[in-house]
Amino acid sequence: MVKNRDSRNFNIFGVVAILAALVAVLVGVYMRERQPIQQISFGHFMESLSRGEIAEVTLSDQAHIRFRFEAEGLQYMTNNPRRDTFKEELLLSNVAVLEGAGSINWQLIIILSIVVAAIVFTRRKSNALAPATVAINPAEAIKKYSFADMAGNEEAKESVADVVDFLANPEKYSKYGARMPRGLILHGMPGTGKTLMAKAMAGEAEVPFYAVSGSDFVQMYVGVGAARVRELFKKARASGKAVIFIDEIDALGKKRSNGTSGGNDERDQTLNALLTEMSGFTENEGIVVVAATNRLDTLDDALLRPGRFDRQVEVAMPDINARRQILKLHGENKPIIANLEKWARDTVFFSGAMLEGLINEAAILAAKEGAGHITDNDMERAYYITLAGYEKKDRTTLRQQERRLTAYHEAGHALAAKLVTPENTVAKVTIIPSSKGVGGFCVNIPPEKMYYTKQELEQQIIVHIAGRCAEELVFGSENITTGASNDIEKATRVAKRYIGQYGMCKEVGLLDMRSMGRNANLIQSCKRMMDQLYNDTLQLLSDNQDKLEAIALALLEKETLDEAALDLLIA
Ligand code: ADP
Ligand code: ZN
Repeated sequence: MVKNRDSRNFNIFGVVAILAALVAVLVGVYMRERQPIQQISFGHFMESLSRGEIAEVTLSDQAHIRFRFEAEGLQYMTNNPRRDTFKEELLLSNVAVLEGAGSINWQLIIILSIVVAAIVFTRRKSNALAPATVAINPAEAIKKYSFADMAGNEEAKESVADVVDFLANPEKYSKYGARMPRGLILHGMPGTGKTLMAKAMAGEAEVPFYAVSGSDFVQMYVGVGAARVRELFKKARASGKAVIFIDEIDALGKKRSNGTSGGNDERDQTLNALLTEMSGFTENEGIVVVAATNRLDTLDDALLRPGRFDRQVEVAMPDINARRQILKLHGENKPIIANLEKWARDTVFFSGAMLEGLINEAAILAAKEGAGHITDNDMERAYYITLAGYEKKDRTTLRQQERRLTAYHEAGHALAAKLVTPENTVAKVTIIPSSKGVGGFCVNIPPEKMYYTKQELEQQIIVHIAGRCAEELVFGSENITTGASNDIEKATRVAKRYIGQYGMCKEVGLLDMRSMGRNANLIQSCKRMMDQLYNDTLQLLSDNQDKLEAIALALLEKETLDEAALDLLIA
């Protein structure tokens, strides 16, 4: 309560400050306008005019007119002769003639400014209080989407299927006392179809869709964001069931950096209001909050706690199969004769939005020419336009060299995992980037265990550093890349525990380094161990270079390999 009053004070304070600034500016301008201007007799003026000394005259219907001499910049004034031919006279004497409105009408300007300020303020207020971008009757105002409008992304669709069913029939679940997630987070790179997915969920369940963006809440007056959140939920509740979509949730729920408890008051209040509202609705009310972010790792842990956004679904960048489907989908109602198979192949690192843009751009080019069809040639030109448009925003260059490097790097991880940890599952290797990993990634799942042996920890390190080893082996030690930074971090963590916590290194012995403060010994031992393991891994990969080559080539062709495909290549 007290907090609320504070925020209202803050509001008024803000308004007063802005008005004061406005007045100060106006007074400043006014003073400058009113600078004393020296008056000169009309006779003197006419003499100067005949000598060609007058540079510029500002005519008006006031009692005085202003002018400047050729030699100096100062303004002077003289009586207004009010002669019909005066302007002509001046022009014939080569004087620049300006037509001023006379002295400025100050009353009018001040009144206008106040009116403008009033409009701006009321606008902001009403805007802020009514969740922007929310249609009054969303069910009718927004085109219905379904999962059929979303090509590829089968895994993501599967992981939200039960939520959709729950939305459509909450009674069915409440009968069994089943609790459904109140919130889920869609994470993935920009343009991968997160918004589309949320809309499709609402469409499939036939419930209204309410959307806001986290960035709308930034830079608002304290309290306004929270009020807007409450308003949003009120509306959604009023319509019974609903999908509430919050785009760019990271703008609201960014991790707090240590120590800055003060933080951003407005953001915290808005976030708190959101969490309160979410825990407020009863279990099976039929409302699900779907949030989207490009950066799952930056989210505040408070958001991810049980009962909040406790389900996270990745909306992945499309691989070659998904790209083919997306191109087909968006080409459906267009006269397209381009080879979509080829374009699916040539659009690595294109998001769904980029593919949609590509087809649209090609359609525009084809329409301009009026040839009747969208051809490969149109696609070719559209391809570069699309690429150029995106290159500035995110790093989606289609560089064959980078793709090759990623393929060998990931092949290194996969091969090492297969060779040294045969009991692990290598569920998936891909060179399609995700929002978690740069480049591609390799999903290596160890069996569930209580304890790990010394050897198993070494094997973990080997798998982590095998990506870098493959880079060195294939491209040379001068051409290794920054792509391994994440791997190095993970390997270092294992090594540090191996030596400093589990007492598995003879040199250091049974010492817990965590309780020994900073320790040069630990670094030395870690380094020695890493060097040794790195050389072993390099040797391992070079002994199996034919397999490494086979996996990398398969990745370049298919982009994603599952375990069966991997086994086949290694056998
Ligand atoms: P995000 O919210 O992840 O940034 P959007 O949902 O706004 O991405 O996607 C923008 C557009 O890109 C969509 O409206 C759609 O036209 C297209 N698109 C993205 N992903 C897909 C997909 N998987 N299938 C079909 N179209 C897609
Ligand atoms: Zn790696």
